[in-house]
Amino acid sequence: MIERLLQPHIRKLVPYSTARDEFGGEARVFLDANENPFGTDLNRYPDPRSTELRRMIAERRQVSLESVCVGNGSDEIIDLIIRAVAAPGDRIVIAPPTYGMYGVAARVNGVEVTECHLTSSFDLDIDRLKETVSERDKVIFLCSPNNPTGNQLSLDEIRGVLEIFPGLVVVDEAYIDFAKGESAVRLLEMTDRVVVIQTLSKAWGLAGARIGIAIAAPIFIATLARMKLPYNLSTLAQRAACERLSESERYAGEVSVLVGERERLRTRLGELSVVETVYPSEGNFLLLRCSDSAAVFKKLRAAGIIVRDRSHEPGCHRCLRITVGAPPENDELVRILEEFV
Ligand code: PMP
Repeated sequence: MIERLLQPHIRKLVPYSTARDEFGGEARVFLDANENPFGTDLNRYPDPRSTELRRMIAERRQVSLESVCVGNGSDEIIDLIIRAVAAPGDRIVIAPPTYGMYGVAARVNGVEVTECHLTSSFDLDIDRLKETVSERDKVIFLCSPNNPTGNQLSLDEIRGVLEIFPGLVVVDEAYIDFAKGESAVRLLEMTDRVVVIQTLSKAWGLAGARIGIAIAAPIFIATLARMKLPYNLSTLAQRAACERLSESERYAGEVSVLVGERERLRTRLGELSVVETVYPSEGNFLLLRCSDSAAVFKKLRAAGIIVRDRSHEPGCHRCLRITVGAPPENDELVRILEEFV
């Protein structure tokens, strides 16, 4: 099923192969890759398959090793997915307001973008989607919880998309660790047309290491692995990720603090006169509609606090997106906004 969605040139692609891939024996002396033999910690190329890291992710997400690919941030994964299934002149579908890189990655590859805006309550407009998509649309990007609106799609809603859309359905779960609802990974049991994207940049605190994750049918994952740059994750990144993934207690503690802070911040921001609406969020951020978002932004900027202005996004008139910080940072944010008249 999934094979028919792959570009013909990608289906035929012969990947770059390293001598270590082909070796088969137990290597002791490494004279294959023109490295410097004098041991610093980083004189050898990294594991091109990031096997240890993928094993840890697979175990945590309860999927097979062959269902997991890792990339240089999920941004690399988004780019690979688009190139696997779309060629210049094809289209992807996005549901704005949403994460901006789907559109950018498509356009960089000469792929066009079909927009099916969310409703005024930021829900998926399935009837409009059905009317909007055409044969040229190869992949739809659903973001759940959605950046910047914070709401999560139910698995039934995603099943609804699978029913009306014959292409690839990507569910970007960058913020899944903060959400109550179920992960779309479960849908892989019923279809090979779903790809779930996750990341270690958010709840796992490794934005600086650049580690994105794709979870999908093994045949699709093998395709991404053939397409990717051979050494897309550095030794440092793989090591940092493995260390961090073994600290589950720390992760759980931080997620629990951030979810608690999100709810505390939501209440406190909702009480401020400059804030009209704080949208409920399943992520580590809140979307606020302000009476005057430009003035709020300016006030925060003067105080050295940077937030994301989303007021020019569809349906986000006068909206700012604010990341949930550490408790003192959140207190400072509220204190500054309280002074605002
Ligand atoms: N997806 C979404 C929805 C995001 O908000 C972001 C980052 N803001 C990303 C993907 C990119 O994450 P990464 O750091 O893994 O490239």
